[in-house]
Amino acid sequence: MNFKITPLNTGFIPTKPLEYHYHFSCKPYLKDIPDEPVPLPDFTFLLEGEDGTLVMVDTGMAWTERANKYHHKGSWQTEGVDDIESMLKKTGHTPADIDLVVFTHLHWDHVFYLEKFTKARFIVNKKEWDYAHNPVPLHFKSYERPIIAKDGDVIVAPFDQDGVKERFEFVEGETEIIPGISVYESFGHCPGHQTVVVETENGPYYCVGDSVFVMGNIDVTKEVEENLHYDIMPPGRYVDIVASWETIRDTLARCKKAGVDPHKHLLLAHDKGLSDFVTEYEKEHGVLPKFGDKE
Ligand SMILES: [Zn+2]
Repeated sequence: MNFKITPLNTGFIPTKPLEYHYHFSCKPYLKDIPDEPVPLPDFTFLLEGEDGTLVMVDTGMAWTERANKYHHKGSWQTEGVDDIESMLKKTGHTPADIDLVVFTHLHWDHVFYLEKFTKARFIVNKKEWDYAHNPVPLHFKSYERPIIAKDGDVIVAPFDQDGVKERFEFVEGETEIIPGISVYESFGHCPGHQTVVVETENGPYYCVGDSVFVMGNIDVTKEVEENLHYDIMPPGRYVDIVASWETIRDTLARCKKAGVDPHKHLLLAHDKGLSDFVTEYEKEHGVLPKFGDKE
């Protein structure tokens, strides 16, 4: 079954390029890249099937206060504008309409407001679920572990809420979720990351989550290639750089095999180029862009 894909940005998170976007070994060759925080968008994707099936890839980040206090300082989600419910409203849908949510991973910026998705099946990789519930302290915040709470706050991870956690289903390896939507493991950014492959009239699109952190990761510069012999520009945030590297190679190989341009068919969660495109498109057409029409 073919789908149409609508990118929905749920806010902005400032990150340092030389800490998050690219591995520190690339630093001497990235003199034009600023070393101060750049606000990156936080995309989710709405997938609308030919038969009306509604699927989300991730549900995005928290409100400004929560994002700022426990995660990245300077993050923002404009109330009534960027949160997933408001973004879905622009497409004529509500969270309660969604049939299925497939998670790339369970970091805080991909999982908020799950309680609003009252009928959806939730799909995540088994390794990611297990790790999210038993991370090393370095990742307590990423997975919203209750221990991070301060000032009398009570923290319950969105995926651990009553009425939500019972609806999670686990997958491993490469598998079809429903006709037209499949996942494959894309480990490295976190222990159980997966990429969601979406069939469209225009060939497959790959919702790669954070496994390709910025589009620059797929295009090695001449200098880096000559001096370091790299075949990609490795990202800066990972739990396993080898897995991360192999994942990017694997994803590029899949695009090549499918005969699609990765610059157009990879949909990243934190792609500034995509948010610039969406903003321009919306300004010009008054609606959000959709991917998947035959070119
Ligand atoms: Zn993320």
